[in-house]
Order: sequence, then structure tokens, then C-alpha cells
Amino acid sequence: ATLQKDVSENHNKGFKGHDMLAPFTAGWQTNDLHPLVIEKSEGSYVYDTNGKKYLDALAGLWCTALGGNEPRLVAAATKQLNTLPFYHSFWNRTTKPSLDLAKELLETFTATKMAKVFFTNSGSEANDTQVKLIWYYNNALGRPNKKKFIARAKSYHGSTLIAASLSGLPALHQNFDLPAPFVLHTDCPHYWRYRLPDETEEEFSTRLADNLENLILKEGPETIAAFIAEPLMGAGGVIPPPATYFEKIQAIVRKYDILFIADEVICAFGRLGTLFGCDKYNIKPDLVSIAKALSSGYMPIGAVLVSPEVSDVIYSQSNKLGSFSHGFTYSGHPVSCAVALETLKIYKESNIVEQVKSISPRFQNGIKAYSDSPIIGEIRGTGLILGTEFTDNKSPNDLFPTEWGIGAYFGAECEKNGMLVRVAGDNIMMSPPFIMTPDEVDKLISIYGKALKATE
Ligand code: PLP
Repeated sequence: ATLQKDVSENHNKGFKGHDMLAPFTAGWQTNDLHPLVIEKSEGSYVYDTNGKKYLDALAGLWCTALGGNEPRLVAAATKQLNTLPFYHSFWNRTTKPSLDLAKELLETFTATKMAKVFFTNSGSEANDTQVKLIWYYNNALGRPNKKKFIARAKSYHGSTLIAASLSGLPALHQNFDLPAPFVLHTDCPHYWRYRLPDETEEEFSTRLADNLENLILKEGPETIAAFIAEPLMGAGGVIPPPATYFEKIQAIVRKYDILFIADEVICAFGRLGTLFGCDKYNIKPDLVSIAKALSSGYMPIGAVLVSPEVSDVIYSQSNKLGSFSHGFTYSGHPVSCAVALETLKIYKESNIVEQVKSISPRFQNGIKAYSDSPIIGEIRGTGLILGTEFTDNKSPNDLFPTEWGIGAYFGAECEKNGMLVRVAGDNIMMSPPFIMTPDEVDKLISIYGKALKATE
């Protein structure tokens, strides 16, 4: 708390005790600290209201892939605002940008064939929609008991009631009477932290797949509707899957007629050096959630991609069951869709995956070169995403005392030196914009090094 107070002394002093009940923020933070107020963005940088410039190493909140001031996105939004700022997509009325975007998304995602797109405003709403789609699907198939979901410890799927239930982070459950009873959690696939002595990555993956199968058998396969996973876990600490993990998990899920939902909210559109996380880890999902980089964060939008098998049932049975009565006023918002369409166009024209692949070795190798630091337990990631876990003695079990707030200390040092990262306990995370230049990557690495030295 003292540290946060010190850092906040450099912020704009006009907003302490402001009027927002702010997300993921404690009362004492609002009341006692000066918030960091960001006013402007430019490429890979953001500026606060004092004019201080920060390298945005988290791309906003894992989302501004094209950086801060892409004029084509501004032009796409302006054009749409001038033509049709809003019309809805209920009751078979809709707008051209939402139709065009749905078509484009189905062509873009190729890990499995997808047939339909449901638009939301966020990743949380996408995951809530997944649950309702699948419940409706199983009701339509006459399987009213097949309703439970299996997610993983340390996953993050959002913060609405259902998405928070799916998430495997205690802070999202405590004080909210969650998770909901239809959600079960299985192991977090973090090899470094949870492996047994002498266990190989493959053996670890086999053990986790066995645990998943045992959970399914204990609950009864006829009660389990779907399994949800981020291809690479993001907010839980940037945890890539261990070797053979998804191959084994997918085999179990298929064996018991359980749908696979890929939560691509962070991974999609190039972050891992492949267009989707599913492409990288050979995942063949039945349903996919996307958001964030879909519009490079410029407008709120999320979407669910639905396989032909699931959407066919929903379409054919809706004549009997009644329509799929779910949706949001702003599902398929024309301005969000127009911006997302332009975003996808830019990704295609600039060959964004190649761009990420060309810059990511510099980013990965530069940061991983600090692995020998005595306060770093593990640095992990791929493409343009990295997490650092601070522990003592290189051991996953030797945590620093929590009052040290080592992640917060490191984050504060970064901020002092002009860079913003994500802090979560003993983890810090980075997911820079895809447009970062080599010089900016070098700057990021150098600020990371300075902050690390100060933290050691
Ligand atoms: N799913 C994943 C994997 C996420 O990382 C997030 C947000 O960080 C969400 C879902 C929730 O998205 P939103 O904050 O847009 O509701």
C-alpha cells in the first residue's frame, strides 16, 4: 500500500476519491491514491494527463494489437457513425457490417469449419453465450441432464456471473457465492509448478488427462456438456500448455461426447505467432470465443463461432422450442462491426502473423535472458505474450512473503521508468501491440532489466 501511494504521488492529483466504482479496484485505492489517468495514445505508447509517456507493454488490456492511433480504424468508425450509428440485429433485422463481419470471421477461422457467428460486446458475454447456446443445444437434443461445464484452475473467462464461474481464480468466486453449481474445475496445466518429481511434460499431460477423465466418470459423462480452455492461459499467469496436453485432453472430451470451447479472447489474431491459438496447439474446437484484438480494442465487440453440428440443431429445433431468445441490444453493433472488419483487413494486408513472428524472437529472447535472476522462478510465453513469476531459490514452492508485493514492486519500477505491465500477485505479464518496432522491443527489454535490478 505504501508503495502504491508513493507511485501515485506522480499521478494527476485531481481525481482522488473519484466517482467511479472502478473494476477490480479496492475502496482504499480509490480513496487514498491518485489514479493513473491515461489521456492519449500513439503507436505503442500511451500518455497520462501530466504528459508522461509510457510504453504500453500490455496493449491496453491485451487488446490494442494495432497500437494507439491507427487512422484506418478511426476512419472506419467515423464513416459508419455518419452512415448508420446504430441499428439492432434482433428478429431477423440487421445491418450490413454485421453480416459482412460474420462472413469474414467464418473464412478467417480455419482450425475447424465453423458455420455461424453470434455477436456480443465482450469476452465475458461471449462465454456466457456459450453456456446458453450449449444448454439450448442439449435441451433441443432431449438431453436435459447434460448441462455441466468443466473449466480449469487459474483460467480467466470473464467476470459476468457465468464467465466468473467458469474462471478458475479464487478472487472471482470469493464474496460472490460462486462458482455456480454447474461448473467444475480441473487441473491447471502449469508444468513447472505442478509436476511431480522426475515427471516429464508428456507424463504430466497424461496425468492431467487421466484426472479429467476421472472427474467426468465421477460426475457421469451424461451430465457434462462442455470443456472450456484458453489455448494459452493469459490472466492466470501466461501459461502455455505442456507437450501433448491438448492432444490428450481432446481425446478424452471426444470420448464422452463433450463439446470443446476454445476461449481465444487473448490468443486470437496473431498474439502467439499463429492466427489463432487453436492453430498453434492443433485444437479442433466446436465453439470459439473471441473479443479484444477483433477490433484492436477500438470498439467493444466479442463473438462466438459455432460449428455446423451445434448450429444445425439450434436452427432445426428452434421451430419447435421457440427462438434462441438471447442477445444484447448491441449484438452486432454496426460501428463495432465496421471497425472489426477494417481491423481484419489490416491484419490481412499487413500480414500481421508474419509481423508478430518477425518481432517475437527479439522479445522472447531478450526477456528470457533475465531468467537467471535470483528472484525469477520462471519466465514463460510465446509470440508476443510473456509472464514472469517471481519466486525464491528458483523453486515454485519458495514464494516471497506476500507483504513484499514483489510483482507490485516490479510493476511500480516499470511505471517509474515509463512502461506499463500487468501485475497479479507474484506474476507480471506483458502482451505488447503487434506493431511494436525492434527499437521499442529493445526499450521494453531495457526497462524490464532496470526494474528487475531495482527489485532484486
Ligand atoms: N476470456 C479471456 C481468455 C480473457 O482474457 C478475458 C479478458 O481478459 C475474457 C474472456 C473476458 O473478456 P471481457 O473483459 O471483454 O469481458
